[in-house]
Amino acid sequence: MNKKIVIGGAWPYANSSLHLGHLAALISGDVLARYHRLQGDDVIYVSGTDCHGTPITERAKKEKISAKEIAEKYHKEFKDVFEKMNFSYDLYTKTEDEFHKEKVQELFKRIYDNGYIVEKIDEDNYCTKCGKFVADRELKLICPSCGNETKGDQCDCGYVPTKEDLKQAICNECGSETATKENKNLYLELPKLQLDIEEYVGKNECKWRKNAQNESNKYLKEGLKERAVTRNLDWGVDIPINGFEDKKMYVWIDAVLGYLTATMKYCESNKLEWKDWWKENGQNNKIYMVHGKDNIVFHTLILPGLLIGLKDNIHLPDIMVSTEYLNFNEQKFSKSKGIGLTILEALDKFDTETLRFHLIKNGPETKDTNFTEEDYKMTHNEITNKLGNFVNRTLKYKGLSTIPNGTMDVNVEKYIKEKYTEISDYIENIEFRKATLSIIELLDFANKYYDDKKPWIQYKENMKEFNNTIYTCAVTIANISNIIEPLMPKIAEKIRGYLAIKDKKWEYIGNIDCIELNNIEPLFERK
Ligand SMILES: [Zn+2]
Ligand SMILES: [Zn+2]
Repeated sequence: MNKKIVIGGAWPYANSSLHLGHLAALISGDVLARYHRLQGDDVIYVSGTDCHGTPITERAKKEKISAKEIAEKYHKEFKDVFEKMNFSYDLYTKTEDEFHKEKVQELFKRIYDNGYIVEKIDEDNYCTKCGKFVADRELKLICPSCGNETKGDQCDCGYVPTKEDLKQAICNECGSETATKENKNLYLELPKLQLDIEEYVGKNECKWRKNAQNESNKYLKEGLKERAVTRNLDWGVDIPINGFEDKKMYVWIDAVLGYLTATMKYCESNKLEWKDWWKENGQNNKIYMVHGKDNIVFHTLILPGLLIGLKDNIHLPDIMVSTEYLNFNEQKFSKSKGIGLTILEALDKFDTETLRFHLIKNGPETKDTNFTEEDYKMTHNEITNKLGNFVNRTLKYKGLSTIPNGTMDVNVEKYIKEKYTEISDYIENIEFRKATLSIIELLDFANKYYDDKKPWIQYKENMKEFNNTIYTCAVTIANISNIIEPLMPKIAEKIRGYLAIKDKKWEYIGNIDCIELNNIEPLFERK
């Protein structure tokens, strides 16, 4: 039976270009989406640009343009990057989208009405000259730990200033001293949700990566603390509660609820019912969350907390695909230090399809991994040699004008069928690296079969055997197109074109038409 699958790719933040590290974290989402579609499942794969929050307003001030313009610039760039990398999102939206803002306000109001969002009085820093409350990261003070000047949220030395330290802080914008003043904020009552969240984590963590399990349990053990959901800002989603007109929603609440609002939007425009994907209905639904390790608790604890707080029988995310980091030449990607490549820069240099394959093969699944151009080139050449050449020497065998009518080799058939099962298991266990290695084994097997049969000798001595060999290889290529579709969709499409295959499915192809062979171009360019 078809499953209803939601895949939520983390929402990139609109204040700098995406680099290869981001891609390494997000690409698993596209593999899952394409794989489940091949299985015949009803997939909704969503993501969007995270447009709100202080880093964007600060940037806007510096560049003397509006926060909206900054967000829009990066939103366009992100959309372009994902299209070029062949991400198959069903909807890529943004938190500035009117539909999102309206729905997230409704969800917020419901959690408030259910008593999980409550009012508290804080003592916050207020600048009389600017006439406003000043956020921690917009405050300046001398770090009590290292003696250097620091922002109020965290010092470069790692020290996090206390409320007491911040009493001496000055306003970054105007340089005046600040004073504390009572400030009314709304908080998510995570302590009240602790037991429910614990039960949820306990039931699901066996399907998560180790980092997601460890990080979540660490926070649960310490005891969840209430978390502010409002802040004094003029850029973000309005608070739908009386008395909070001067505040906006904290960016994290707005972004994580985006998975749900994006599904709602997609369903509304496609005449589907979002509840079929997001409600507990005894069906075989599955929700995957794909993100980097810096975002784990937002997905494993806070999002489930918000969803439980809705008291609306919501199906909580099942599987956490949390990656570690990809480094660049053994260093962290850093735009300011000029380390690493943005995706747009990488696309000028590399082949999209083999880059996708390489980022998965070398993916930071269980530990940080490292990207070098040399390693990428090795992967590119390996795929070019093993897949490109196999297709070439089968379908462009000299003198061949059609795929010959032959019989499929039973051992090859058995091997390919086993590969479908094995690779499917790896993908469903979110072990994508193993899936790439298994594909390379399949390519090695196919090339060995070809070499052992020596079709160049069969061609002279036994035409029937030659036909069987080429036919077996052509059927193998047809099946390879299914199996590589989640990883290298453009190459898979090219192969389907060569062999006149209409449907893509996660299913063994036993026969192919003995069509005319023309316009067979090399699958890859040498890089
Ligand atoms: Zn000020
Ligand atoms: Zn310091």
